[in-house]
Amino acid sequence: MPKNRKDNWFFTALLIAGLFLILLPARSSAGVFKKKSVVMGTDLEMIVSSTDEAKADKAFASVENEMKRIEDEMSEWKEKTFVSAINNNAGIRAVSVPSDLFKVIWAAVTVSKLTDGAFDITWASMRGVWDFSPGHERVPSASEVKERLKLVDYRDIVLDEKKNTVFLKRKGMAIGLGAIAKGYAVDRATQILAKEGIRDSIVKAGGDMRVQGLDNGKPWEIGIKHPRKKELLAKFGLTNVSVSTSGDYERFFIKDNVLYHHIIDPRTGFPARGAMSVTVLAPDTMTSDALSTALFVLGPDKGLELANKLNGVEAIIVDASGKMRISPGITLK
Ligand code: ADP
Ligand code: MG
Repeated sequence: MPKNRKDNWFFTALLIAGLFLILLPARSSAGVFKKKSVVMGTDLEMIVSSTDEAKADKAFASVENEMKRIEDEMSEWKEKTFVSAINNNAGIRAVSVPSDLFKVIWAAVTVSKLTDGAFDITWASMRGVWDFSPGHERVPSASEVKERLKLVDYRDIVLDEKKNTVFLKRKGMAIGLGAIAKGYAVDRATQILAKEGIRDSIVKAGGDMRVQGLDNGKPWEIGIKHPRKKELLAKFGLTNVSVSTSGDYERFFIKDNVLYHHIIDPRTGFPARGAMSVTVLAPDTMTSDALSTALFVLGPDKGLELANKLNGVEAIIVDASGKMRISPGITLK
């Protein structure tokens, strides 16, 4: 589908090279309220522009409750979630799931199809083979990876749209929504804020961010930092858009001078090597989240090619050599 450049009006001024999104300190105008907490194993940060602090506080609490609800439904680490039920019943039976979880899994499989499996939530079948948690880091042998990789294949996820059921065809298979659920949660958070009467907000959970409305009549200022340097390389004004970043510095360890990180290339079973960081701008955060991981695995050439094909999607990639690459809808100052 040819891309409509007019869709990109909101990407006004953009310098960049980077990874992890940082919120710039909000301008010191009255009526900007902030809340930080930890949900879904990540830092949640909300900034809203409102005339009513009590309303903002009430909205923050509603968002936190919703994020906890999503975690209890979608975590692959907690025992009693629906995702754990799907994994525990791999090769046994289909599991009926809530409609929002079905929607997230459906979206994940759609991105798998778009990327020919570079994005694949069944990567989680490799659980235990890779461990990035501090103190437990391990590099698996090539044969171990090869063996377990046989279980990684999104085409073996059977979705029944009428019954809202999910079935993993083979025993030992597992799904993990680490690359998409946070984005969905950020979208829900923004919807909840709007329902509570807050139309101007930033919600950021880890590397996933929704920028909604305006900051005192102006686009919100957003910064992106370099994956290897401390300083901020760019800032730009955004409104009504989602921004997600995937980076090789988020969860990683170094062994024998090799950096091993948490984004796994399903074609090799080893960490993807094409990029240091990928930032994606998209119409919603579930999409930007999934695509940032997907483009990371695809690497700069194929990643930019895919971004170009998708309406309202732009990408900023720092490739393996540290060079910044951008999609054509992004204007560098
Ligand atoms: P973050 O969790 O830091 O926001 P991402 O959104 O890029 O980063 O997601 C990385 C997570 O996605 C990993 O920790 C893992 O849970 C999962 N994952 C790793 N490789 C893949 C892949 N090829 N496809 C889908 N999910 C993946
Ligand atoms: Mg992601």
